Amino acid sequence: MKVKVLQNILDANTQMAQKNQRLLDNHRILALNIMASPGAGKTSLILKTIARLKDKTRIAVIEGDIASTIDADRISDQGVAVVQINTGGGCHLDANMVENALNNLKLNEIDLLFIENVGNLVCPAAFRLGEHKRVVLLSVPEGDDKPIKYPMMFTESEAVVINKTDLMPLLDFDLDAFKRKVIGLNPDVEIFQLSAKTGQGLDPWLSWLEAELKSLRA
Ligand code: MG
Ligand code: ZN
Repeated sequence: MKVKVLQNILDANTQMAQKNQRLLDNHRILALNIMASPGAGKTSLILKTIARLKDKTRIAVIEGDIASTIDADRISDQGVAVVQINTGGGCHLDANMVENALNNLKLNEIDLLFIENVGNLVCPAAFRLGEHKRVVLLSVPEGDDKPIKYPMMFTESEAVVINKTDLMPLLDFDLDAFKRKVIGLNPDVEIFQLSAKTGQGLDPWLSWLEAELKSLRA
């Protein structure tokens, strides 16, 4: 019984996600679902990307948090359109929440939309939002074992970003072992390694975004 209820919820969510994606496609917006544990650097990566791309790309952000507008305020300070979703305790975003947020954005004025999910490596992987690409961010202090502990997050994503590489010399993070585990789960995934703080390694990530934007427009 319980399983059936959950399946119905997921099916309804998938239908709403497809509706969101059609809306985004009609406006030629590339949407990314950014998923990670709390503190991995989702907002920092988005802010750094905004700083580098905002002169040539119109960016907007949907910020998912259990409470507060701290991250949305940081984004808004950069002059970028942002809509806050407070889930009131909910540990992931769903397609309904994103539909409401899309209704509060000027879609004709957006090329690239970041959807920052609630910090959590578990259930965000089960709920499609209408995004074109799913990006899981993993920071070096979290350790290289996360693909084994949270495999769904890595099998469901198109890109993996290893953040805080500036801390690599201080920690026992085995980069090759991490990549082997990720590729074992998801052979086609893109892997980026960077420091959102120092900006080191950011260029391949930006090039990937620009290539995806271009292919949406082709
Ligand atoms: Mg954040
Ligand atoms: Zn959840």
